[in-house]
Amino acid sequence: MAYIFPGKIFPSALNAYIQCPFKFKCHNDKDVKAEFIENPESFVGKIVHLALENFFDIKKVPINERKDQDIGQMIRHLWARVPKSSWSSACWSAKERKELFGSTEQEKAFGLKAIAMIKNYISKADLSIVPLSLEDWMQCSVGEFVIAGKIDRIDQDSESSISVWDYKTGKLPFYDSIEKIIKDDPQIPIYAIIASKLYPFAKKIKAGLIYIQYSKIYDIIWTKDELEEVENEIIKTIREAKDNTDFSPRINNLCPWCDYKNICPDKDKIKEKDSKIEEVIW
Ligand code: SF4
Repeated sequence: MAYIFPGKIFPSALNAYIQCPFKFKCHNDKDVKAEFIENPESFVGKIVHLALENFFDIKKVPINERKDQDIGQMIRHLWARVPKSSWSSACWSAKERKELFGSTEQEKAFGLKAIAMIKNYISKADLSIVPLSLEDWMQCSVGEFVIAGKIDRIDQDSESSISVWDYKTGKLPFYDSIEKIIKDDPQIPIYAIIASKLYPFAKKIKAGLIYIQYSKIYDIIWTKDELEEVENEIIKTIREAKDNTDFSPRINNLCPWCDYKNICPDKDKIKEKDSKIEEVIW
């Protein structure tokens, strides 16, 4: 294996470590790291992010035109222009999209679902916001490390407060409270720390997840002092990951979906989820 401790820590890497040190090792090994393969859901996820980036960009859609924006037209325009990867400007051809979705009818069904999802979110969202940043790659130093990520949206709420948002296009999370969600996943704390350092005027930092399909928000507010404690915890976890030398597998609830299950030393101990089928009784 060619494991290298990352120069920049992204939330996905730290999340892998919290779940399982062996998974973290695989995630940071260029020889075994799972390759990302586009699927219909990830394509829709990209479209939704692109559409909301355009929608909240006042250079593209002035605030007074947001309410009357033709979301269907916007999605159809973007759909044909989704780049195949972040390092190439080549777009998906109609033939490739048909293959990805299985048929033109299925592609249409996913497209209509994306339009409905965004219309539903926008109908309940605050349309007066002027974001400080949209879909930007950002990073900052914490202790001896650099943390980084692509932050979907940062809004200025007042002269001394900001909100940091990540859009989710999938199902609602397993946990129904932000405190439980961030215990397992450091994405929101990491984004809040980066935003607070890049916008030092903010004394209060709200950060959270927006589940677009359900217009459901999970958020938390930190003062700068509280966020400093969160930062110390993040540094502690990164140090632990760096100093870890045995990378033992840690069986957890997400093992059945782990990209590294086939090379996991404990693969025989993993119980397949939902293997028992109980028929309906009506
Ligand atoms: S299957 Fe489970 S224990 Fe094995 S590497 Fe993946 S997360 Fe770790």
